[in-house]
Amino acid sequence: MVVQPKIRGFICTTSHPEGCKANVERQIAYVKQQPKTQGAKKVLVIGASAGYGLASRISCAYSCGAATLGVIFDKPASGSRTATAGWYNTAAFEQCAHRDGLYAKTINGDAFSLEIKRQTIDQIKKDLGKVDLVVYSLAAPRRTTAEGVTYSSVLKTTGEQYTNKTIDLRSGQVTEVTLPPATEQEIEDTVKVMGGEDWKDWIAALKQADVLEQGAVTVAYSYIGPELTHPMYLNGSIGQAKRHLHATAQEITQEFDGVKGYISVNKALVTQSSTAIPIVPLYISILYQVMKRHGCHEGCIEQMYRLFHEKLLVDCPPVDAQGLIRVDDWEMRPDIQSEVDELWKDIDTENAEQIADIKGYWEDFYQMFGFSMSGVDYEQDVEINVPIPSLQES
Ligand code: NAD
Repeated sequence: MVVQPKIRGFICTTSHPEGCKANVERQIAYVKQQPKTQGAKKVLVIGASAGYGLASRISCAYSCGAATLGVIFDKPASGSRTATAGWYNTAAFEQCAHRDGLYAKTINGDAFSLEIKRQTIDQIKKDLGKVDLVVYSLAAPRRTTAEGVTYSSVLKTTGEQYTNKTIDLRSGQVTEVTLPPATEQEIEDTVKVMGGEDWKDWIAALKQADVLEQGAVTVAYSYIGPELTHPMYLNGSIGQAKRHLHATAQEITQEFDGVKGYISVNKALVTQSSTAIPIVPLYISILYQVMKRHGCHEGCIEQMYRLFHEKLLVDCPPVDAQGLIRVDDWEMRPDIQSEVDELWKDIDTENAEQIADIKGYWEDFYQMFGFSMSGVDYEQDVEINVPIPSLQES
């Protein structure tokens, strides 16, 4: 069928198989052009189908030549409904990896569950023996724990309510939005979903099953950002969860012999999870404009390649005073941030198209779902039932 984008709120309910494939191939091509990375050989990526997790998987496979096992939570096509973008991305990644002689298998299910942890461990034992790198890149709105309790995360501020500019990207209107503070319960629940508890459960389960190499490394992703996003992010409910995640990295290093836990603080980018955060899309579109003008804009793949090649898979990973790896270093450069600040003060509905990279924001948004990729004919009929090779075998 001919697949067109259907946008509801801040997501697209359709995705294009050929466009997703082109997007994965573009990321692979980027990594292939870069110098190789020594380090990881057998990698588990939890949250491997989109955004930073997909880019991590591609970087490890194509820069380190690593075998990758990905955990995803995606839906295949059904009737006239397309599969999720993550499904098509994973199908395309596996096809490329197999063609290029790389091991790539996928487990599809809820990474928070005991069952998926068990299946993953069985697969590692069967095929890889042990893994030497575990990437934890989940971004989820809710989590059901092993005890069967479901927690939902919220994107709210904490303490006082907070008012600042925001953009309705569809109409281009710059307006003010007031964010209510989260309740104590909402903060606790957000920490349950996006904090480090499940990451630590994964490492405990992998360690207990003896499927981690001695000297294994695990990394989870975080965001800090400039002051203007702090009420919303760093000091918001999600920031509380990230603080918990940061503390978990240290606990992992201290409590699990032979395992090192790291946090990489990444750049703000358009992904399915960041589009949902109020205020942040306006900040991202201004940031894109400034970073592109300075020639230092990066997408997920450039960020993740730089993380593995320069910062994580090196003898002594460089960390800041809080022990965090920073690949948001270019975003946080004082010259970049002072320009963003100035533009933030000036931006309104009339000048938004000039001041902010609204076009670039939309391009990234569409490309996440396989649309707006050059070289793809969107008028053509496409087969929407695309199998993920390793899921067909099992
Ligand atoms: P994303 O939405 O693009 O990717 C999240 C991945 O998690 C997807 O593959 C999704 O399918 C998977 N997932 C969600 N729930 C799952 C579940 N229950 N079981 C298995 N898989 C599940 O998001 P992203 O922006 O790449 O976020 C990844 C991490 O990077 C998050 O920790 C996020 O906070 C962090 N981060 C994001 C940004 C940003 O600007 N996007 C910046 C810095 C850090």
